[in-house]
Amino acid sequence: MERIVYVNGAYVPESEAKVSVFDRGFLFADAVYEVTSVLDGRLIDNAGHIARLERSCRELEIKMPVTAEELTSIQLALIEKNKLVEGGVYLQLTRGNEGDRDFSYGDAIEPTLVLFTQAKKLIDSPKVQSGIKVISFDDIRWRRRDIKTTSLLPACLAKHAAHAAGADDVWLLENGYVTEGGSSNAYIITQEGTLVTRPLSNDILHGITRAALMKLAQETGLKIEERLFTLEEAMQAKEAFISSATTFVWPVVAIDDQPIGNGQPGPMALKLRDIYIQTAKACA
Ligand code: PMP
Repeated sequence: MERIVYVNGAYVPESEAKVSVFDRGFLFADAVYEVTSVLDGRLIDNAGHIARLERSCRELEIKMPVTAEELTSIQLALIEKNKLVEGGVYLQLTRGNEGDRDFSYGDAIEPTLVLFTQAKKLIDSPKVQSGIKVISFDDIRWRRRDIKTTSLLPACLAKHAAHAAGADDVWLLENGYVTEGGSSNAYIITQEGTLVTRPLSNDILHGITRAALMKLAQETGLKIEERLFTLEEAMQAKEAFISSATTFVWPVVAIDDQPIGNGQPGPMALKLRDIYIQTAKACA
């Protein structure tokens, strides 16, 4: 069965889906996106993703062509049409197209909305057992990383470099401090057992999984410090891990070939992963 995707009001087989070559998403990455995970055919943490989409749109003055409720109906319709049980729904909203290439744009421009599903094993990922290896990489992104735009070339190059080096992903570095993962938020557990992660600012994406995880970590009584940390501190940590909508929590077992802790997935990372999944499923 061909995948059914959504383009500007229509549900069509993927081979028939079309977007203009003049679309600003294609020409300028003038677009925002969200990825919501799906478990047991249900959307995980979706209210947070839609709220962040609305914020991204406000920051860039991109019009939302449908309401938050309509957007959720489209996501659910795609899950149903594609019989998706586990994976994600990708949603992209571009500023639209004015029939030519021009950096500037007018007020009358109509946005382009595209959604599609992706089937993927999220719970039984082999990365949970093995953990992931990351390399440090210069964070060359722009200064509004809090806006979830499709300008992802720096992340593509960084992840490609990680794979070429035999690693799974990157931890991005700015002025010696870790900003975040290639497509995730980054955390360490210090030798004293404190959870450390970078505070929210324009330097990082405000992860929806991060928000949920921090609340749960607090409820478990874990000591939390939202502050900057260096690569050196991370290498001396007891544990390291990442969070995102598509990974939930994955342990980090090595940074630049230096094992973290005993080089095995950390118990706190695995515990937080379990708690997050249980809670997310219960709220889905
Ligand atoms: N930071 C970056 C750069 C990301 O691309 C992502 C994944 N969207 C995240 C953090 C994690 O955000 P979320 O938990 O909302 O998926």
